Amino acid sequence: MMDDLFIPADPDVVQRERLKAKELKRSAWWKGQVGRGVCHYCGLRVPSAELTLDHVVPLIRGGRTTRGNCVPACMACNQEKRHLSSTQWQSYVEEKKRVAGVPV
Ligand SMILES: [Zn+2]
Repeated sequence: MMDDLFIPADPDVVQRERLKAKELKRSAWWKGQVGRGVCHYCGLRVPSAELTLDHVVPLIRGGRTTRGNCVPACMACNQEKRHLSSTQWQSYVEEKKRVAGVPV
């Protein structure tokens, strides 16, 4: 599939962005994000401690650790997003919201 073809990002850049993500997690901004206790993707309420920092555009695909590209995600979504193609991922999120009764 077209959108699954990509040139992996430079490992040095990925490493640097991962470190930035660690710093971002200590920021007041991030604490505010997880403090809301809602997964960005499926919209389910999740305890703050169980929310992970997810890069909307993965680092390996050239995403960066910026506020616009970092969202709180529940562990299930974080896991699934790694394994699914973007089309499968869309269906997964919609189905999860539908089951939970969260507006899509
Ligand atoms: Zn989720």
